Amino acid sequence: MASKNQIHVGGVPIGGGAPVAVQTMTKTETADIEATLAQIKRVADAGADLVRCAVPREKDAEALRTIVRESPIPVIADIHFNHTLALKALDAGAHCIRINPGNIGGPEKVAEVVARAKQLDRPMRIGVNSGSLPAHLRELEYSNPVDALVTAAVEFVELMERLDFTNFKVSMKSTSVPNTIASNRQLAERIPYPLHLGITEAGTKWSGSLKSAVGLGTLLADDIGDTIRISLSTFHAEEEVKVAWEILKALRLRRRGPELIACPTCGRLQFDMDTVVAEVEKRLEAYEDPIQVSVLGCAVNGIGEARHADFGITGAKDMGMIYAKGEPLKKVPTAQLVDELFKEIDRYYAAGKQLVRDDASAAEAAQWLSENEDATAMTPERLAALEAAAAEQEAAEAAGQTGESAATPPDAGELNGARLDESVSPVAGRRFTRA
Ligand code: SF4
Repeated sequence: MASKNQIHVGGVPIGGGAPVAVQTMTKTETADIEATLAQIKRVADAGADLVRCAVPREKDAEALRTIVRESPIPVIADIHFNHTLALKALDAGAHCIRINPGNIGGPEKVAEVVARAKQLDRPMRIGVNSGSLPAHLRELEYSNPVDALVTAAVEFVELMERLDFTNFKVSMKSTSVPNTIASNRQLAERIPYPLHLGITEAGTKWSGSLKSAVGLGTLLADDIGDTIRISLSTFHAEEEVKVAWEILKALRLRRRGPELIACPTCGRLQFDMDTVVAEVEKRLEAYEDPIQVSVLGCAVNGIGEARHADFGITGAKDMGMIYAKGEPLKKVPTAQLVDELFKEIDRYYAAGKQLVRDDASAAEAAQWLSENEDATAMTPERLAALEAAAAEQEAAEAAGQTGESAATPPDAGELNGARLDESVSPVAGRRFTRA
């Protein structure tokens, strides 16, 4: 369940039904203002809504004055151990500060930071990490790490509430994906505050992205989580932002830029589709609109699998086809597929997002498709047609309307002229029967 409460970090709403915010962390020395601002610019261009900077020294807190002023997105100061740095970061204008109440020096120090945040009307992030739980929870951490994380988070939330402070979000981070999922599910049931999600020290770009996609994706699919950060071992923070966006786009939680759909290829492939996909992906970077473009290696399943795509190509040995919204547009030599695809996309935008179709070319492409389509393939559409026909038949029989009065179902064993049998398309164990 999405959090009930909403806070604002700079101008970015977090929680309470706001879009899931993407954040990352700079990897530069914060006091190196030029390098830090350059990285912030890159992550903002990649789509970060928020950025966090480490503040381990006074000169980092001091640098925040300039960084906050010149950053295109709100800046969160990341503080550990030293509550005076938290106060200095707030005074320097940080839009939010992240502290771990368990390592900031005790409740009195937390109260001091909270008082300053209240005075300046700034939100905080209360961060709990599996590696730095309060001493009294260490034993519980060994026997039940999920309970330990949730208990620590709830204790910190209660401390904030005793201080009459509710302008905060909460994070519980663990390197364990199952523990992250379980603890956030529990915490989401118990508190109304926004949740920041992340798998801490997730790893390299490859493994870390997958761990994050599984952990954060599971929670986000359950409507848990209001802001996310992907932690990857790379100096290029923008890579974290790209991964975060792919997770949000995959779940249809947010849209940003074009989406490329590409088949995995198989033994039917007869042209260099890898190159085509790479080229399409690169050229799509110039477009901001969230159009969906599909690349299919062959016409084996027609274009039904990508019928929702705004534009697409399906290739073959010498000729391929360009289509839009599941309808053929034109047939072109394989070598010109990409150029022609982008001509059609540009024509669409030039016409004010209207498809410009040449009927003769479309008819020629449709003809090519019918000649190249594998009519024996059991596409989802064909399976659905079979099931619908079988259901209709059953209903008619149940009503005693067999014979000519019932709608005549298509011959389930015959599709587009191809007679299937059990050896070609087994139905044993599936949800339809064949007459
Ligand atoms: S579209 Fe064609 S080439 Fe691509 S995976 Fe499917 S069958 Fe294979």
